[in-house]
Amino acid sequence: MLQTLTHYFLHFIFIGAIAYWYDKTNWKKYWLILLATMLVDVDHLLATPIFQPGRCSIGFHVLHSEYVIPLYFLGAIFIRHKIIRLVMIGLAFHMITDFIDCLWMLSKCETCSAAEIFQGL
Ligand SMILES: [Zn+2]
Repeated sequence: MLQTLTHYFLHFIFIGAIAYWYDKTNWKKYWLILLATMLVDVDHLLATPIFQPGRCSIGFHVLHSEYVIPLYFLGAIFIRHKIIRLVMIGLAFHMITDFIDCLWMLSKCETCSAAEIFQGL
């Protein structure tokens, strides 16, 4: 329960604080842009089943893979275009949020190894 609340709080509410930090004047518009970065989860549609409780997204789904995650962080740091950089910040924070969820799963499962939780890595 706390894990789910934390996960959705970070995905939907906390990004409002990031938007406010990013631009105090236009934070509502930027919050919507950050909310739109949730679309990165469309890669779940490629998985079977599409939704599986207890499955770690990091390393499993294409847009959550170790090949693209560094690009989100590099983009968040180096891209100068304000909107594109915000999208990259949103994607990087999305990965942090999902990663926290995976660590939480690992901590709750007594018999799981990290290799089982982070299947794709
Ligand atoms: Zn995700």
